[in-house]
Amino acid sequence: MVQVIKCLFGQHRINRRRVWNDSVSMRGACRGCSKPLIRDLNGWRPFDPSDHSDKRLPHPNVDLAPRTTA
Ligand SMILES: [Zn+2]
Repeated sequence: MVQVIKCLFGQHRINRRRVWNDSVSMRGACRGCSKPLIRDLNGWRPFDPSDHSDKRLPHPNVDLAPRTTA
């Protein structure tokens, strides 16, 4: 519950059990709000539509993948 409040301030926290690799970056979801996250050089941040690339592979199990349209 505390995490959800942090989410409102943009301090998302990765759910390490759901991390996967799309062949370009590590991807995951927030533990508090399930928002899709992506890891770049500075750490985890929310996935942005502009991050989309044809090089990125879909989640190996699409049914479990977090929705990219939040
Ligand atoms: Zn969050």
